[in-house]
Amino acid sequence: MSATEPPEKPQLDCREVLEEVYLYLDAECSDVRREVIRDHLDECSPCLSEYGIEQEVRTIVHRCCSQEKAPDEVKERLRRKLSAIEQVSDLFSETAERER
Ligand SMILES: [Zn+2]
Repeated sequence: MSATEPPEKPQLDCREVLEEVYLYLDAECSDVRREVIRDHLDECSPCLSEYGIEQEVRTIVHRCCSQEKAPDEVKERLRRKLSAIEQVSDLFSETAERER
């Protein structure tokens, strides 16, 4: 039934994207991965502004695309925010595990 569907890029959820933004920062991810992340960020600015990292991510994404290096201070700011987010989501998953 689904044989005629065009191949689609993998869909990531917001958390996965935020985790991969780390790799993006360090230019550790492949071009395909990069494109998927960038597409998600283009379509999903609510998730970024919710975390308060929209500006930082956009700066970095733009720099990456134009092959310029993101300034260390921007990376550093984003890194700190992301690790704060990570701690929060760890808390959430711990709570979820305990409830099982
Ligand atoms: Zn998102």
